[in-house]
Amino acid sequence: MKTDRKTFSDCKGNPFQVTVLTVGGKRPGPVFTIISGQHGMEHSGPCFLPELAEELDQLDFEGTVHVCPCANPGALAMDYEFYPEREDLSLIKDYYYSRFRHDYSPWGIGRKDMNTDYNMNRLWNKTGKGIAYDITGWLWKNYVDQADLTLDIHCAQNSRPFIFNDFPKNNPLIAVTGIEITIPHFNKKDDYNAGNLGFQSARRDDHYGFCIEFSIQHGLKDHEYPIGKNAVKNLMIKMGMLKAQPVLGPHPTYSLPEVQTEENATSLRASHFGHVRYFVEDCVPVKKGTLLYEVRDIQTLEVLERGTAPFDGIIWSKTHKPLTEPGERLFSFYQPTELKAEF
Ligand SMILES: [Zn+2]
Repeated sequence: MKTDRKTFSDCKGNPFQVTVLTVGGKRPGPVFTIISGQHGMEHSGPCFLPELAEELDQLDFEGTVHVCPCANPGALAMDYEFYPEREDLSLIKDYYYSRFRHDYSPWGIGRKDMNTDYNMNRLWNKTGKGIAYDITGWLWKNYVDQADLTLDIHCAQNSRPFIFNDFPKNNPLIAVTGIEITIPHFNKKDDYNAGNLGFQSARRDDHYGFCIEFSIQHGLKDHEYPIGKNAVKNLMIKMGMLKAQPVLGPHPTYSLPEVQTEENATSLRASHFGHVRYFVEDCVPVKKGTLLYEVRDIQTLEVLERGTAPFDGIIWSKTHKPLTEPGERLFSFYQPTELKAEF
């Protein structure tokens, strides 16, 4: 295994090292680049990728795998989405993360406030001033530009891992990951959002790239690490880099509808205030009419409402809130299509 370390400095001269591990196969073949840790509160990729590189180093495969687990060490050290090098970093001491005020930024530059160019995953293939630009520029030139497949690893706030995909051509690769859900975003992006790594890596002919979102921010869910390692190994099998038996999930990868209509996509909303109880897990197919949830009054303990499946489909993205508000979204419900894994 080869280790490449480069030191970058922020605008105040503080140095940060970024490390890329390269595992070379026994024979030439495809180039597969994996990057994580762009957003500092997303720790799954940074934690499992060094282990994965060590495991790959023991395998007999073709081609080259580049792994950059911690692309944004300044942000990871702060457990914050980005590294705002020009701001007063001492304000982070007054910041505590709560999923009930997810968008709060101590500098007033969070996602709801503005499009900041501190956000590393909006800067790919762009030039500008700052350590995040310097790191993405270096990674692109040395590791992404030549990659046949680029995998960008993040974490969202969800119950299970899923995929963001910007191009239909990635679907045969996504189908072998064993990840349960892929969300297609095939529409044209504005310039800011077009700076994400999945989009930039895959927009070129004969290059592929997408993003796996693991399911916890500001925390660890180490039982998901095997899911990530398995996805990478299955992708290597699919690309002809590795000869092994792929391990797939309990069901095909579901693709949420690209074109959403009342018949295939809806949000279920509560009509009352109370405690919510869900009866169905995310991604489990249910028939129309299946009981999905009920809301119970916290004083009388009466059940105030029940909700059933409006069509055959799956629940996706339940709210984390224990108490419902009238009119508030509880979860989305989709009729997905299935991506068939073919090797
Ligand atoms: Zn992220």
